[in-house]
Amino acid sequence: MKKLGVAVLGSTGSIGGNAVKILEAYPDWFRTVGLVARSQTALLAEQGAKLNADWIASDGGYDELSRLSGRTVEFSRVAGLICAPEVDVVLCAIVGTAGLPLVLAALGAGKRVALASKEVLVMAGDLVKSRAAAGNGRIIPVDSEHSAIFQCLEGRRKNEVARLVLTASGGSLRNATDAELENATLERVLRHPTWRMGRKVTIDSATLMNKALEVIEAGYLFDFPPEKIKAVIHPESVVHSLIEMMDGTLLAQMSRPDMRFAIGYGMSWPDRLDGRGLPRLDFSALGSLEFSEIDRRRFPSLDFAEAALRCGGTLPCVLNAANEVAVDKFVRGEIRLPRIWSIVDRTMAAHRVEPLDGLDTVLAADRRAREYAGKLN
Ligand code: MG
Repeated sequence: MKKLGVAVLGSTGSIGGNAVKILEAYPDWFRTVGLVARSQTALLAEQGAKLNADWIASDGGYDELSRLSGRTVEFSRVAGLICAPEVDVVLCAIVGTAGLPLVLAALGAGKRVALASKEVLVMAGDLVKSRAAAGNGRIIPVDSEHSAIFQCLEGRRKNEVARLVLTASGGSLRNATDAELENATLERVLRHPTWRMGRKVTIDSATLMNKALEVIEAGYLFDFPPEKIKAVIHPESVVHSLIEMMDGTLLAQMSRPDMRFAIGYGMSWPDRLDGRGLPRLDFSALGSLEFSEIDRRRFPSLDFAEAALRCGGTLPCVLNAANEVAVDKFVRGEIRLPRIWSIVDRTMAAHRVEPLDGLDTVLAADRRAREYAGKLN
């Protein structure tokens, strides 16, 4: 079998670190072409050596990294290098907006993009899809819920699918009262019950803003309107998501909550890895699985997502930008947690929506939303 050439964007983060583990565990499947990270240059250099990558790059600084590793290339070359013939799969796990231009380049060059950065589709869903169609690129979701839905949908006719059902762990504040939400400290918010993830996504998980972004992501990925996308609370994070067929049958995808399942499938698709090193689900230890409705009065995030997806254009991008700004304010101790929703709500309300005709439009809307949200408290 020909090895798949892989480039990892964001290799030192939580998803990227798990991708590196898979690349290490499957040298017979994958060859590491390039690694990109913003920070932690020492770790990046170490990963590059361990995986014998052709090149590594950091948008945080060329000089520091090149002192550590002879594989270092300028960050400005990355967009070209990931489009080279030796790259088959680009795993995008860069948090925030930095991944978008690189994903557009890879899709335009006909690459398979294993997409973990939900911001890419939230910010520029229509643009990403049209670029993929024009360049024959293909997006394989790596977000666990979307990987689950992707796997459940495989081989099925879309017109037989009534709804997509995303599961949400409910995050660290699932059972919090209004007063507890109001007074939640950063430390409390970061205590996630099941998933170990980066800080931003753990906070988004507590506000259910992560699920809101995922509803938008699912809408663009699978071409479903908001009324056909449901989210339910499932604290054990064992059922990663479901699809509901038109006859009422539900199909679910399950595994232990370990991101390597979705990352591995995103990279190996349409083939499946043999699971070496991955934990199997132990039914005797599983106990019971809980499901419940989301309390949308306490957690209004999904209202914003549905409005943004229904409207389209630049509004999902504005939701994402306002949320990032508000989360930063919360981390700095400038606002209380529920103000995140209010900042998102007010920023969206003030935004004049435009159609997505190019990257410039996206970046301009992102910038304006950040400026506006930055002034709110
Ligand atoms: Mg997810």
